[in-house]
Amino acid sequence: MLEAALMEAATSGLIAIDFGDQSIRYDQLLVAVSQVQQRLNQAGLQPGDRVGIHLMRSPTLIATLLACVFSGVAFVPLDPLFPAGRLREIADEAKLSAVIEANSDGAAPIAFDCPVITLGLVEECVVNESGLKPLHLPLLSPQTTAYIMFTSGSTGKPKGVVISHQAMATFLSAAVTRLNLDDKCHWLLITTIAFDISILEIFAPLLVGGRLCLANSEEHKDPHLVAAMLTRHPSLNTLQATPTFWRMMINTGWSGKTGLRALIGGEALDAGLAEQLMARSRILWNCYGPTEATVWSMMSEVKTAHQITIGSSLVGYAHCVLDDEGQPVDLGHEGELCISGNALSDGYWQRDDLTARQFITRNDGRRYYRTGDIVRRLADDCYQYIGRQDSQIKLRGYRIELGEIEARLRELDTVLDAAVKLEGEGENRILVGYIEQGECGTAYTPEMTRLQLRKALSPHLPGYMIPTRFVWLASLPKTASGKVDRKQLTAS
Ligand code: AMP
Repeated sequence: MLEAALMEAATSGLIAIDFGDQSIRYDQLLVAVSQVQQRLNQAGLQPGDRVGIHLMRSPTLIATLLACVFSGVAFVPLDPLFPAGRLREIADEAKLSAVIEANSDGAAPIAFDCPVITLGLVEECVVNESGLKPLHLPLLSPQTTAYIMFTSGSTGKPKGVVISHQAMATFLSAAVTRLNLDDKCHWLLITTIAFDISILEIFAPLLVGGRLCLANSEEHKDPHLVAAMLTRHPSLNTLQATPTFWRMMINTGWSGKTGLRALIGGEALDAGLAEQLMARSRILWNCYGPTEATVWSMMSEVKTAHQITIGSSLVGYAHCVLDDEGQPVDLGHEGELCISGNALSDGYWQRDDLTARQFITRNDGRRYYRTGDIVRRLADDCYQYIGRQDSQIKLRGYRIELGEIEARLRELDTVLDAAVKLEGEGENRILVGYIEQGECGTAYTPEMTRLQLRKALSPHLPGYMIPTRFVWLASLPKTASGKVDRKQLTAS
């Protein structure tokens, strides 16, 4: 469906992407896509192979993702803004056939253990080309992997969520319908490709012949610059961000945009923020979903800030709430939210144990993903989000397994044992690492060691996963059963 949409838009001379002061038409974009496909072919990549995307934010990135989708090559995002050690680990774990980089796009080169395909920049190559080039469209099974998204893993390494073409198509078509998108859609794309909600931002506008405005690597994280872009391009009408980012935008004094379709998700929305956003946009969508169910599984319009709910399953998705015995709960009761439908992931990349634990088949014969989210059933297809039942957290919109940080800390000589907690309220929440001291060798001061710890963690963990504070303890407090007693850990 994507290729037909792009072809149609290409024959109408429409603009596909704005990037800085460049505008790239659909026909030009398709030329670039076909060139990337040729490179994939020359490198011998087949449907089902995995390729790492180590590209800065530019039209080349969009053309490359489209080329992978059309060729059936599974893409694995490797955002160059993440630490090199983590990207290398993901590349090794995913057993990539190749990594795609671009000439002079500014990404620092990394010594990956697989061949590198180096592309020219779309902006440079399309100007010399004219006329539509045929796309290479092999017949793909719906089960062919479209992408693998690596997210924080509790054992100390990122885990890969495998998403098929069927899952991606189910999600995109349901989301386009839910949002009522058409070729007037002009979407400001700010999310990193390492976070799966970017899939909606990139592909949904292209599916309807709309227009993407791509924020560059500096702009996309800066609420002042994003607010300025919304003003500079009057026709921009859609923006998706986490509650943290929307709050940052409001804190810059951003007063809103007439006609704006605002999407919020990735973390719980609170009434105060909902009210502020409703006053600054035409329509506000509260979007809920885990990476394992392909981006969002529910998208509901926020009509009142009085009670914030998640709900309204997308077409192709179904939800249920199960108690501790795995039985559906009655209205008004709490339990674990589970998701079924065509958009579920096939499971975790080469982690059958984890897949078996999180993806279950119930006696109705359907496969469900156990989200780990506790919700209360308020009405049919409408839920109140309560919190998590495990140690997965969200900080500034980022999904973090505290166990991953703890495992990294335990690998260090100075650390015998470690526990990490999220402490504080709202925007002041920080990660605190509690450390049981190991062999340290020479004399040290806690401050020096804090810097050493940060330095030791930084090749493997992105900045948002590195604790802000460390507390040194002779031993971590334990419960009667010998587990770390997290309730007793408090830095304040
Ligand atoms: P991710 O896989 O990074 O998209 O994270 C998925 C998790 O984020 C969910 O399981 C929830 O815990 C949380 N989440 C996502 N969207 C919402 C929302 N609208 N309200 C509350 N929590 C959310």
